Amino acid sequence: MSRRRVEEAALQRIERLFSLAEEAYHERPALAQRYVDLARRIAMRARLSLPREFRRRVCRRCGAFLVPGSSSRVRVRQRREPHVSITCLKCGRIYRIPLGRG
Ligand SMILES: [Zn+2]
Repeated sequence: MSRRRVEEAALQRIERLFSLAEEAYHERPALAQRYVDLARRIAMRARLSLPREFRRRVCRRCGAFLVPGSSSRVRVRQRREPHVSITCLKCGRIYRIPLGRG
């Protein structure tokens, strides 16, 4: 398989796993976490970084599936540069995402 095909196949599986995780999270958070772990392993094996939309859903320190209002706290901050802060409620790691100017 070509590199491109490998990437495409991996991305499709990752997308699928994240949507399954999303669906499962409320009733079965441990299962949702397994889907996310699997998605990360697939990305690693294909040597892809997770697409941006998914990167923000996983804690880079502890690997927890970050669900706003449940396993993560999301706040918009205006101090200095406006940014969103995402706190992993499992390990306490804080991520800052700049909102840019405007
Ligand atoms: Zn964490």
